[in-house]
Amino acid sequence: MTATIETPLRSTAGSHARPDPPATPDRPARSTALAAQLRARLSPAAVVLADEPLARRTTLKVGGPADAYVEPATELDLVELLEFCRAAGVPLRVLGRGSNLLVRDGGIRGVVVSLAQPAFVRVTVTGERLRAGAGARLKEVANTARRHALAGLEFLEGIPGSVGGALRMNAGAHASWVFDVIEQIRYLTPDGEVIERPAGDIPAQYRSCSFFTTNLALAAVFRGRPDRAEAIGERMAAFNRRRWDTQPRQPSAGCIFKNPAALPAGRLIEELGLKGHRIGGAEVSSVHGNFLVNLGHARAADVLALIDLIRTRAQAERGILLETEVEIVGED
Ligand SMILES: Cc1cc2nc3c(=O)[nH]c(=O)nc-3n(C[C@H](O)[C@H](O)[C@H](O)COP(=O)(O)OP(=O)(O)OC[C@H]3O[C@@H](n4cnc5c(N)ncnc54)[C@H](O)[C@@H]3O)c2cc1C
Repeated sequence: MTATIETPLRSTAGSHARPDPPATPDRPARSTALAAQLRARLSPAAVVLADEPLARRTTLKVGGPADAYVEPATELDLVELLEFCRAAGVPLRVLGRGSNLLVRDGGIRGVVVSLAQPAFVRVTVTGERLRAGAGARLKEVANTARRHALAGLEFLEGIPGSVGGALRMNAGAHASWVFDVIEQIRYLTPDGEVIERPAGDIPAQYRSCSFFTTNLALAAVFRGRPDRAEAIGERMAAFNRRRWDTQPRQPSAGCIFKNPAALPAGRLIEELGLKGHRIGGAEVSSVHGNFLVNLGHARAADVLALIDLIRTRAQAERGILLETEVEIVGED
């Protein structure tokens, strides 16, 4: 099957007095055609949705639709999807739990793939090692480790992401990082090859592992150390309390900016007097300056305008260039 996307053209019937306007692609129709091609290619258990709003799939709850949203049922489906997109020149983006993403209001062209089906979310334990699919929630990883009396993974409990998103972001909290606690990684290369490799071979920095901008994480093996389950549970509860005391409860994407060398981004934003500042339906949280929250009716444009304002003020008044931790994707 040739993987081309049919682009329905507008009707050319019309006035003789003026030339027809140039044919522009009708996006919903293109999305429907793309989804139909994907359904024909993937297993019946795969989920394929056309023109799927991404606001409902990100924690900030803003952003336009993906042309096609796919949940493959198996690794084979995923390889097929990758091959289809490569052959058809359709962009492919992985979505974890959407907790570090700011999707622009125009949405994402091409395919958004989510590893949400059972084949990708399994968490199993063998001795001191815990293997988790890339779609598994970090909370599930931490709780499974606790149930098996394995310490060292408590810090993952309150990070609302998936294993795949945490690998890409080298997520961390309470002085620990994901790359401190993983031994092995399974991933899909851009050529469709599935590889397992020691995590130590893959460089990661503060809040980033660029290897996963091109490779798609499939699973990771975490290493815990034996401890009493009650002691682990107590540490998790303490971390949890600290989060609830210091972070807002409204929808957000966590910390918007990476911490600059000089001081934490939250303190800088507070010192700039921007806590509580609103644009449209978005607000700089009055609880934590580095969180931008959705008051219920925000658009991505509101959040982007707040980001711009903070960066401009930080640069002008303190000479500090703030870099976003949240990833900004999609079209205006
Ligand atoms: C309330 C709140 C608190 C937070 N606290 C913390 C915290 O304490 N520490 C911290 O580090 N972060 C924190 N975050 C941010 C976020 O939870 C982490 O960055 C998390 O790792 C993102 O995971 P995700 O699955 O949501 O990824 P997404 O946001 O869906 O995606 C993030 C990036 O990962 C990529 N990606 C996702 N899955 C894969 C995959 N399988 N293979 C390759 N790339 C993939 C995406 O394409 C994207 O580039 C917080 C967020 C919120 C909303």
